[in-house]
Amino acid sequence: MGETVRYTYRLRPGATAEAALLAEWGRCRWLWNEAVHQQRSGCRPTFCKLSKLLTEARARSSWLGDGSQVAQQQTLRTYALALQHSFKVKGRGRPRVKRRKDSLPSLEYTTRGFSIRDRRLRLPGGVSIPVVWSRELPSDPTSVRIYQDTLGHWYASFVVRREFTPAPEAEGAIGVDWGVTTTATTTDGAYDLPYHGRRKRCAAELARAHRRMARRRRTKGAPPSNGYLRAKRQAAKVAKKAARQNTHDARVWAKKVVDNHTTIAVEDFKPTFLAKSRMARRAADAAIGAAKRELVDRGLRAGRKVVLVPPGYTTMTCSQCGTRAKHRLGLGVRVFRCDTCGYTACRDRNAARTILATAERGRAGADDVRHAITSFRDGGRVRSEPEIPRLPAVGKR
Ligand SMILES: [Zn+2]
Repeated sequence: MGETVRYTYRLRPGATAEAALLAEWGRCRWLWNEAVHQQRSGCRPTFCKLSKLLTEARARSSWLGDGSQVAQQQTLRTYALALQHSFKVKGRGRPRVKRRKDSLPSLEYTTRGFSIRDRRLRLPGGVSIPVVWSRELPSDPTSVRIYQDTLGHWYASFVVRREFTPAPEAEGAIGVDWGVTTTATTTDGAYDLPYHGRRKRCAAELARAHRRMARRRRTKGAPPSNGYLRAKRQAAKVAKKAARQNTHDARVWAKKVVDNHTTIAVEDFKPTFLAKSRMARRAADAAIGAAKRELVDRGLRAGRKVVLVPPGYTTMTCSQCGTRAKHRLGLGVRVFRCDTCGYTACRDRNAARTILATAERGRAGADDVRHAITSFRDGGRVRSEPEIPRLPAVGKR
């Protein structure tokens, strides 16, 4: 059995190739914005309609016609999908205009549009880019996304099939509660993920870079100064470093948790009301976000039962007898004490146990989960957000 995954590599385009990529992005961005305007002016742009318009537009404009048809069609396909999701998925907004100054280049090609020859990535228009092959591709890729990050580095993310490696035999269940001081508190202390404060440590450096940016901010209408651009790059570099460390920590931790448990109950974390100061809160939120993503992703891929539990009332419900306390625990209260059965535990540990108990009692049957996993593994496309059964809030039964 195989699974569909992404393998990402660094690209090292020369000046000509980079100019070609940016020009391609300019055309695709224009198309995307055109589709957004169409939607706003009331004619529902489906992929079919947009494709027809694209053919006409390419015949009319040589600027558009010079670009890759595959990349342009993929842009419209992505747009149509984003629009469809904005109607179906709760909380997702309509696709918005991509502005030049704050959107990062991203291009998609199917096998009709790209090939790998002599270990270089070949794109339409004679563009040839060296790839840093940090590991071998497990199979021939079916599509590729080429993108640039905030530091200006280019990457190619290939969609490939690879052999499915089954997760090790395991038994047991674990509950996970997210927090600021400890990123993940679990039912079993051995699996806790401490908060390393990666971003906090970088915060001073980042603040310095931001101050430098503010000092060098351009006057309206003038192009940004070199000093400003340097400071901006510095800030992006610091933020990136912290994010990478977060992801690394999260990966190591998630692997350990997934390898040793068959049922994983996770607090469905929403990044609000966590810490007081904005900087600290953003840093802790980022660490939690990375850990949750990795855990859910790995858990589903390994075929584990993953359940998301809404965070409401988990800290004030007793994990032993299920009684909900009459009053919310203050933020300073670190110990939970049950008035009914006398159970006492660390506040976060009790929350993690309540999360697990809720998941085990919950409505999500094994069938729902198996269904989610099958479609995740064999859907043919890589999903960024797998569907996981969400349980009703604690106490609502
Ligand atoms: Zn109790």
